Amino acid sequence: MDHPENSNEYKGLQVNSGVNSAPSVNPYRRRRVIPTLSPGDYVEGILKGDVSVLGRAVTLVESMAEHHQVIAQEVIEKCLPYSGRSRRIGITGVPGAGKSTSIDEFGLHVIGRGGKLAVLAIDPSSERSKGSILGDKTRMEKLSQQKEAFIRPSPSAGSLGGVARKTRETIVLCEAAGYDNIFVETVGVGQSETAVHSMVDFFLLIQLAGTGDELQGIKRGIMEMADGIVINKADGDNIDRANLAAAQFRNALHLFPPTPSGWTPEVLTYSGYFGLGIDKVWDMIDRYFDYVIQSGYFTRKRNEQAKYWMLETIDEQLRHNFYSQPQVAKLLEQKELRVLNNEQSSFTAARDVLDFYFSLIAR
Ligand code: GDP
Repeated sequence: MDHPENSNEYKGLQVNSGVNSAPSVNPYRRRRVIPTLSPGDYVEGILKGDVSVLGRAVTLVESMAEHHQVIAQEVIEKCLPYSGRSRRIGITGVPGAGKSTSIDEFGLHVIGRGGKLAVLAIDPSSERSKGSILGDKTRMEKLSQQKEAFIRPSPSAGSLGGVARKTRETIVLCEAAGYDNIFVETVGVGQSETAVHSMVDFFLLIQLAGTGDELQGIKRGIMEMADGIVINKADGDNIDRANLAAAQFRNALHLFPPTPSGWTPEVLTYSGYFGLGIDKVWDMIDRYFDYVIQSGYFTRKRNEQAKYWMLETIDEQLRHNFYSQPQVAKLLEQKELRVLNNEQSSFTAARDVLDFYFSLIAR
């Protein structure tokens, strides 16, 4: 457009007319089409340690779409013989305990020893709120720059059981891709810890000192699952309080029944932020693995876990199938009303719905 200043009558400085601005979308740029891979391609890429193929395979595992699941299951099945050769370590602690800071340091330590590490997560908040406790901040900044680390946030959709199964399947893929250390992180009030505990070899509980209640609302059940309890933030003027907390935890652990592995859980202090005592924590984990591999508990536990996951998967698929039948959902709604109005007992209502479901799937 011509500026009024450029008219011949204008006496001041003249201004050149501007050029048209470029369109914000490049019309010549083609959308990149990502070629679809066959199950064989996925397996080949994973076994070569190709991170982008691994990432795409995990996306398939996490997908709710039926046709993705068919491919995912085939890929998992084919990767299974190459899996199992890793240390699977569960890590939990309340928000703010320092999980991401610590995993950053633990991860660098593991990589420094020549290992490769996959960090997976189970976020129990995704089930209810579709939000996330674990994933909405920049986490593990140092580790995310390491090529030996594969970091994957929690699968976001579905029930806790479904999310946990997907993480368990992702472990298989990561192991086949050569990750010899798997961290599974969670934060929760019990249920998600149980899920993580059922897929790892070692369960690490991160605690804090000096918040008054030393057990910090962590359920006794979670402490009973722990193979190691570590008090984080043992730095500066917090060292004494951390040592005191460690002593209190040791005392509390004396009251617990012996663990099924025969291993006595250890309590240590460290500082994730300042990188103090990380090697001590890792020595403990090494000792644990030496102990359980020698005693045979390692293999026994893995076998039990495999059986558990088979049953869990049956359970989850049955539920999914049941609740995804529209006619069942409709009948369930009617029966709910009847039960609420005291027109039918819970048990006969449940039996009616189940009978209807069984007759439906028998057709
Ligand atoms: P998460 O919610 O459990 O993942 O906890 P973060 O790793 O995000 O840590 C929560 C806060 O505690 C952050 O501000 C960290 O900088 C701080 N923090 C973590 N580890 C330490 C530590 O070892 N010492 C101190 N002083 N602060 C820490």
